[in-house]
Amino acid sequence: MKKIITDCDGVLLDWAFAFNIWMREQGHFVLPETEHHFDLSKRYGIPKDEAVEKVHYFNQLGVLGFIPAYKDSVEYVTRLAREGWRFDVITAIGQDKYSHELRRANLLHLFGDVFDSIQCNVDFMKSKKDVLMKYKEHNYVWIEDRTECAKDGDEVGLKSYIMDHPYNKDYSGRRVNNWKDLYDREFANV
Ligand SMILES: [Mg+2]
Repeated sequence: MKKIITDCDGVLLDWAFAFNIWMREQGHFVLPETEHHFDLSKRYGIPKDEAVEKVHYFNQLGVLGFIPAYKDSVEYVTRLAREGWRFDVITAIGQDKYSHELRRANLLHLFGDVFDSIQCNVDFMKSKKDVLMKYKEHNYVWIEDRTECAKDGDEVGLKSYIMDHPYNKDYSGRRVNNWKDLYDREFANV
């Protein structure tokens, strides 16, 4: 089967862009020299539990219906779909069912009918390993922006790639700067 497994935020969608605009409205700004932290409490200089609370609150505002695409994702994901590839999305946005519907609507609006599944209810505080286990018999490409989750893919035998961001430089496996990079490396001659 021509299948690609992908994370959503920081890979398909630019969640951090939208979150940052909203945080500025609340008077919170990204601190200088902190872009190498994945941890938002370090980036915004707020306590950990407050950062988690902000993320949960933000994700239930209805904005998940309107997150913009990340870099060249639309161009290359739709191109891959035209070439017969289908996508499974694994994303951790909490348990709110309306947020899940908005995320699905957002993805379908931007990318069209390219998804076989969009799984939203992964616990952000937990590893994605359990969810990825169902793909362990396959050598699918798995694309992530979070080091731990890319490693989860490695552990279950997926072909993990990290989407390059300042906060994931500690991942030593395969790395791409954008979807064109991934397309050229994995799919251009398939
Ligand atoms: Mg992500």
